[in-house]
Amino acid sequence: METVVCNLCGSDQYAPVYSMPDRLFFRGEFFTVVECRRCGLGFLNPRPTPAEMANYYPAEYFRSPAGASNARYMERRFRKEASYLAPLERSGATDRNKRLLDIGCATGAFPRFMARRGWQVEGVEIAEVAAGIADFPIHTQEFQDIPVREPTYDAVTAWAVLEHVHDPMAYFRKASAVLRRNGLFVFLVPNFASVASRKLFCEDIPRHIYFFTRETVRRYLEKTGFMLEREDNGRGVYKLAPHHWLGYQIRMHLLNKKYSFPDVPLTSKEFRRIHNLPSGFATAMKYAAYSPVSVIDRMLWPAIETAQILLKRYGVSTYVARKI
Ligand SMILES: [Zn+2]
Repeated sequence: METVVCNLCGSDQYAPVYSMPDRLFFRGEFFTVVECRRCGLGFLNPRPTPAEMANYYPAEYFRSPAGASNARYMERRFRKEASYLAPLERSGATDRNKRLLDIGCATGAFPRFMARRGWQVEGVEIAEVAAGIADFPIHTQEFQDIPVREPTYDAVTAWAVLEHVHDPMAYFRKASAVLRRNGLFVFLVPNFASVASRKLFCEDIPRHIYFFTRETVRRYLEKTGFMLEREDNGRGVYKLAPHHWLGYQIRMHLLNKKYSFPDVPLTSKEFRRIHNLPSGFATAMKYAAYSPVSVIDRMLWPAIETAQILLKRYGVSTYVARKI
């Protein structure tokens, strides 16, 4: 483990916000999320070193569900992601293909999707899942270490990546260095100002190490030569569902009690996994008996999420920044 200072402003003054364990793999191991007193950046502190972090990414983490419904979901997600790059697709003469670098591209499905739209694509991926990519150039080191140093790309994308890296400032700097002037850096990160991130223990700890708000993103961009063009606080790409929002409200506001991790019931997925149950009606009944409030809570999500999006307090945000 290592203790660090603020990645954004360098301050060593920070205050704890909450503690929670690794919900996916090591439920007995707790970590603390702190907030910089000077700039408001959230980060895990202390945190696993880059070498130690490998333990928290077992092969199981990278397994994605196969099947037609997942394929439809991915297609919808990629179309939404591509929509943020539409200003570039429309602009200017197309005497050359626009160049895209996707950071954290996993098996390369998004770059491949963009290649079909006429982009010349490359990817960055440090996990082994990228080993099979042969149809476009792939960099297998950390983004700041790739052997591209000149303004080269029209767009750099990072979907749910920056919250995972040990040095986000290095990523912002590198994105600035490899983008052409007026190029776009488009990235999605969890929203530390949301109730899901800040109060409901929905972050993927300790794989998420940094927690951003609009203000801290703006400061990163100002320091590295970008202008923030657009923030989309919505659920079009990834969701951060407000698990157990109802239980939290009851405990905080009706019972006037604190809400800490032991008060969080298992999600239905965690319940199935921990008790090794198949999905189906019998399991759903068992879960309802275990946590009736969670069942009502689950039915409320669409309404709660819509309200959070309208209030710009949803759990994830996509930012579009222009290189100046
Ligand atoms: Zn700071």
